[in-house]
Amino acid sequence: MNAAVLIEPGRRMEVEDVDLAPPQEDEVVVGMVASGVCHSCLHTYDGSWTGFPMPIVLGDEGAGVVEDVGPGVKGLKPGDHVILSWAPACGQCHYCVTGRSQLCERQVPVRGALFDGTTRMTMDGKPVFHYGHVASYASHSVVPASCAIPICQEMDLKKAALIGCSVMTGVGAVLNTANIQAGESMAVFGVGGIGLNCIQGGGLVAANPIIAVDVNKGKFEYARQLGATHCIDASQDDPVEAIRDITGRGVDYAFIAVGVAEVIKQAWESLAPAGTSVIIGLPPTGSTVTFDTGSLQANEKVMRGCKYGSARVRDDFPRMVELYMSGKLKIDELISKEYSIEQSNEAFGDLAAGELARGMIVFD
Ligand SMILES: [Zn+2]
Ligand SMILES: [Zn+2]
Repeated sequence: MNAAVLIEPGRRMEVEDVDLAPPQEDEVVVGMVASGVCHSCLHTYDGSWTGFPMPIVLGDEGAGVVEDVGPGVKGLKPGDHVILSWAPACGQCHYCVTGRSQLCERQVPVRGALFDGTTRMTMDGKPVFHYGHVASYASHSVVPASCAIPICQEMDLKKAALIGCSVMTGVGAVLNTANIQAGESMAVFGVGGIGLNCIQGGGLVAANPIIAVDVNKGKFEYARQLGATHCIDASQDDPVEAIRDITGRGVDYAFIAVGVAEVIKQAWESLAPAGTSVIIGLPPTGSTVTFDTGSLQANEKVMRGCKYGSARVRDDFPRMVELYMSGKLKIDELISKEYSIEQSNEAFGDLAAGELARGMIVFD
């Protein structure tokens, strides 16, 4: 099978003919239809996130068709349409049984491997590692069965791919993590693939105002299309002051959808009393932020993380599909450019330049 293989951070990926072993116990093989190009993969590609085994096949946002299932797989068969989840769920641990499967305690023994500690991809007999189980920059991927979430056959799989990471993370941050009520105010720092989905999540629950903050004005057209009521150009204006001008007391929720430590501080300072900062974007490995603890205590502010939009993927992926099919969730508007697998480096280049809502690799 064909895969874009990264040999080391900072190098170009090469499309290689990779050997794919058949699925083992509780695994399935998925023929990929499309894969979104995600910022977390870009962080690994450019080396700002460290600790990933190499060589590796990146890609955490894919959808496709089940081609084969390993022993013990229940509820999936060849021909099923699936969205891939990068968070496997054992269904047995404390977090799975209490409805927080995004925090499942079952971990792989070796980063970049599957649960038995080995990979299904090899080149010249040597292992090629999986990025976040999904490894979707490849024509095929073997994933744990709990990472392949079945959806209805009517859903366009190209659109479905984006549900696998950016849509779920952004919309889920608003609906699940923050659980915003109609009329509560919010700001979104960083208007990329995830930030735009925070904005549309705010629209779904009638948050107001919905303030977009970015240093790239070019993104504001997308932001308005998805429901932003105000846009702040942080390269020109101080976003903390600008948010206070709009809201009076600050925002009830600030979403940080960009991996820059300084922005976490700005978002914190833009909060109203009792406001909540939701950290989604992850700054470079080892980053720290300092803040005034007095403002936390006196104003009862909350700072919390958000993993995968606090998704219960088995329930939330089909929910996102239904919202899209009923015209309430926008996905078409998010896809700004399509690439072939051979153009995957170019896709990262465009993403790094900040020009896209979402780029998408499409397989034949
Ligand atoms: Zn992602
Ligand atoms: Zn679990």
